[in-house]
Amino acid sequence: MYHKALFVLTLIFAPCMASAGTSKIEVVCSFSILEDWCHQILKDKGLIHSLVPIKGELHEYQLSAQDVVRLKRSQVVVGFSPDSEAWLHDWAKSSPNHRVLWLGVNEDGTRLPSHGWTDPLLVMSMVTRLCAELNKTDPNLNVSHVQMLKEAQSVDSELKALFSTLPAERRKLVTQHPSLNPFAARYGIKIVGTLLESSSGEAADTSARHFSRLLKSIRADGVRVIVTDEGHNQEMAKRLASDAGIPSPIALNFESLPSAQGSSWKSMMVLQGRMLHEALMLR
Ligand SMILES: [Zn+2]
Repeated sequence: MYHKALFVLTLIFAPCMASAGTSKIEVVCSFSILEDWCHQILKDKGLIHSLVPIKGELHEYQLSAQDVVRLKRSQVVVGFSPDSEAWLHDWAKSSPNHRVLWLGVNEDGTRLPSHGWTDPLLVMSMVTRLCAELNKTDPNLNVSHVQMLKEAQSVDSELKALFSTLPAERRKLVTQHPSLNPFAARYGIKIVGTLLESSSGEAADTSARHFSRLLKSIRADGVRVIVTDEGHNQEMAKRLASDAGIPSPIALNFESLPSAQGSSWKSMMVLQGRMLHEALMLR
């Protein structure tokens, strides 16, 4: 009798126990910012991996054999856009059984602006979709993105207050690649020009004609700040600053978290935002 009861109990609880033990969903993200969002939503319910390593180059990344194994094994693959992660788009095209959840591509096919993760409002819509997709893939997860929405809201309030203190004549800059357009649009800053015009071409070169056009715009608009991408070649930007007679470029990173532990999209936005604000205010 005892044994029979135990057997029935085991039958009742076995599915729950099994699901508690194996409910981790395997997610592969293209880069560390998306990995952070997945962590914030899934917490200990996910095994999450970022393909581009910390401080790696997002647009020109190349998949390793180990990456491909990870991608095939994962239940969800998350990227921002086929434009900025063409290497992941290429993999998806050759892997018909797998789909990438492009957070920067709406369900109707329209696309968010390039580097949309620098605008907290766009982030709110992206994490909403991400959370819905994770719950759809595995309804046992039952995860929420409410905390993430609150964080994006608080980042936005802080940056809005900070950048509202900038005088009109200091609200302009030049960037190395088109990384800050959504940020600038949100906080009332004008991007006067960009050294590398292609959103997916950090490696592309700047023509002499483009360089002299930029120099003219910097002088005409009274730009004092050139933002470069931390870890990338600064030579062209330094020459531009020196020819224009303005301070050396400031290297920022809105594209990768500074370390695997203890850093988040939220801390990146606030820290890099404060550095940008200080440069615009004081130079
Ligand atoms: Zn970029």
